[in-house]
Amino acid sequence: MSARSFRLGRAALGGAAVVATTLGMAGDQPRVASIPTPSGWRQHDMARPKPPVVEPAGWSAGAPAPADAVVLFDGRDLSAWQSSSGGAAEWSVADGAFVVAPGKGAIRTKESFGDVQIHLEWASPDPPRGRSQDRGNSGLFVMGAFELQILDTYKADTYADGMAGAIYGQYPPLFNATRPPGEWQTYDVAFRAPRFSPSGALREPARITAFLNGVLVQDNETPVGGTSWLEAVAYEPGVTTGPIELQDHGHPVRFRNIWLRKLPERVPAAEAERKEPKIVAVPAADLDALAGSYGKEGLRVEITRQDDALLLKLPFRKSPLRIVPVAPLHFVLPYTDGDVTFEKDAAGKPTLARLRIADGTPRPLGRVEE
Ligand code: MG
Repeated sequence: MSARSFRLGRAALGGAAVVATTLGMAGDQPRVASIPTPSGWRQHDMARPKPPVVEPAGWSAGAPAPADAVVLFDGRDLSAWQSSSGGAAEWSVADGAFVVAPGKGAIRTKESFGDVQIHLEWASPDPPRGRSQDRGNSGLFVMGAFELQILDTYKADTYADGMAGAIYGQYPPLFNATRPPGEWQTYDVAFRAPRFSPSGALREPARITAFLNGVLVQDNETPVGGTSWLEAVAYEPGVTTGPIELQDHGHPVRFRNIWLRKLPERVPAAEAERKEPKIVAVPAADLDALAGSYGKEGLRVEITRQDDALLLKLPFRKSPLRIVPVAPLHFVLPYTDGDVTFEKDAAGKPTLARLRIADGTPRPLGRVEE
């Protein structure tokens, strides 16, 4: 851990399990806060219910990397990886796969990543050896911090939050979807990195969605912090990227076909793009004059007045849409890129409502007289 890491201890408060956080920054006074564990369970609680077993039927073994993927292992070499203690990755490659070299330590990607979609395949040692956590243990650490557990839990028992598919120590998998030792298994993961304010305060925790052998085992879960045995570790302020790390837990777990895709950030509208309609006042009598039915070729809409605006009732929507005037004959949908423009004849009688939604051609709907 780095000097600015958080240290966590657990305390019991009012019967609920809580995690006490100490910021161990040199020169700082220790700062302690309480973080309730989301579930109330203690880490590794043997009483925590085990998920149901499900036999995976079809999964993504051998899934080819999409064109934009960063290929982390294509069967040939560990050139994308290094030892987590520095230097070359010393795990051994053979037959299109690589295997943990027990005692050589974890390996991690040379590159760091934030939001990613990950595909990884692994196989437990065959024949199996050991029990509980001492049985085919490795782990997929996203951002070098959040462990998706790799373990032989096929017809083999351990604590719920340490099973294959668990976010280790925090969230058991929703299902035990493991396959037998020696058979290839797949992880498909969507990971959203944590977000921080400029001052380093956690604004959004990380989010993890994971499929194990095609079965959803983590559904948009939010880790309380990085994985750490017996103690949770709080988020490192401001850290939003990290390597993919694979754990050496002393067992010859095999890996193959590892790739990821970097995910784009959704772009919020800039100030100039937040188009609040500039509403103008239109006399109620003029609004009432526009009310009525308009239609063409099977599409018929109803316009009514509501206070100082109009309501647009479309046939394929349950509720009407409020349209507000930005000019006496021009009304916009405040929350959708769309508008209605009315036309009147020489006598001032409405004849047409031109309806536009997004990039669709404006549809001229003639006034329907009844
Ligand atoms: Mg592990």
